[in-house]
Amino acid sequence: MISTDICIVGAGPVGATLACLLAGQGREVALIDRAPLPPMEHPDFDGRAYAIAAGSRRVLDQAGVWDTLPFPAGPIHAIRVSDGRLGRPASPLFLHFDAEEAGSGPFGWMVEARSLRMALNARLHALPGVRLFAPAEAAVERGADGAVVRIAGGPAIACRLVVAAEGRGSALRRQAGIPVTHLPYGQTGMVGAMAHEHPHQGGALEHFLPAGPFAQLPMAPTEGASNLSAFVWTERTAMAERIMALDDADFGRELSRRMNGHLGAVRPLGRRWSYPLSAMIVHRYTDTRLALIGDAAHGIHPIAGQGLNLGFRDVAGLASLLAGAEDPGSPELLRRYQAARRPDNLLMLAATDALDRLFSNDRRLVRLARDVGIAAVHRLPPLKRLFMRQAMGALTG
Ligand SMILES: Cc1cc2nc3c(=O)[nH]c(=O)nc-3n(C[C@H](O)[C@H](O)[C@H](O)COP(=O)(O)OP(=O)(O)OC[C@H]3O[C@@H](n4cnc5c(N)ncnc54)[C@H](O)[C@@H]3O)c2cc1C
Repeated sequence: MISTDICIVGAGPVGATLACLLAGQGREVALIDRAPLPPMEHPDFDGRAYAIAAGSRRVLDQAGVWDTLPFPAGPIHAIRVSDGRLGRPASPLFLHFDAEEAGSGPFGWMVEARSLRMALNARLHALPGVRLFAPAEAAVERGADGAVVRIAGGPAIACRLVVAAEGRGSALRRQAGIPVTHLPYGQTGMVGAMAHEHPHQGGALEHFLPAGPFAQLPMAPTEGASNLSAFVWTERTAMAERIMALDDADFGRELSRRMNGHLGAVRPLGRRWSYPLSAMIVHRYTDTRLALIGDAAHGIHPIAGQGLNLGFRDVAGLASLLAGAEDPGSPELLRRYQAARRPDNLLMLAATDALDRLFSNDRRLVRLARDVGIAAVHRLPPLKRLFMRQAMGALTG
């Protein structure tokens, strides 16, 4: 039997970042993933990217991975919000948020998923405090005084805290009997990258359409595309299935219809990915010697690109409680972790849910109300500044 302070199960972006942060603070951690780490790197451009808020950037910085991202992050300097119907010009009433007007740095950064993965993998291998087991299946037994994590075909590890970071389908959450409520949206999110004719100049677009929001997010250039953006495109599931089955030329035509001439001609680049969308509320974030973080603890609509950012906020919250704690899995520490993180995550869930419901429908009154709302915000500088601060808050959190 070997022993360590903390075992983290799940080496996705959230679990891996927590391992780097804690090991950097001098903790001994074991990190276990059932999938092998190297293939998670996808060395070729694969079209997936995250919108990283300033607060998340700080977490990645403290974890020692921000400066070693192998591909540059693309800053988001402006966000344009518009409302419309497919095949018609966007509503003339739109909101334009400028980071400089709000008087601070960029709203956030677009980071390629492969870039984050490569930096995390390199850091995990470089930190002496991290014991990595991947691919490996772990069986966990927890008790009031500690836990034992048995690696199939490997050692048994005694620890005082187990962190569940295995994503939405968390087996540890299920094993602990923690109830979960799912709120299906009947929508599917399609994500990928597109090359376009004109430079984006750091501008993002959130275009609300009746079937769901369509977002263009500015990325740094990559091989084969000097003008590049990510798209996060929500449709009713049956329609998304038809769109995903299209060949590149037809898929590009559908993309162009959503972009409505913005940034000139567009073509898809790399692979496209799709995810059925649902929100997920986990009734407790902790159990005896167990803390849930990242997608194991919450799931939200990707309308504001905040899922991973919430996970990084869990990482920051748990790491700050663990700093200097004598017993990393004490009931008091776990109680404080839940109290610190649950309200913030619920608030974001409610906000993204309300945004999707407000914009993903075509009823005349709702449409009128939101156009009037958008116009009012645009005309009143104090109101606009307030919204900008809210947008920054959502992104900078
Ligand atoms: C369409 C879409 C777009 C999105 N865009 C954004 C965005 O722009 N910005 C943003 O912040 N977020 C975004 N998100 C959300 C983001 O992708 C997730 O929040 C993030 O991936 C969660 O990371 P995680 O590490 O918690 O979980 P995951 O990424 O799911 O990682 C879980 C890990 O645990 C491992 N695992 C699973 N089960 C076990 C087990 N039993 N034992 C051991 N290991 C196990 C898996 O192999 C995996 O490595 C988006 C989501 C969707 C659906």
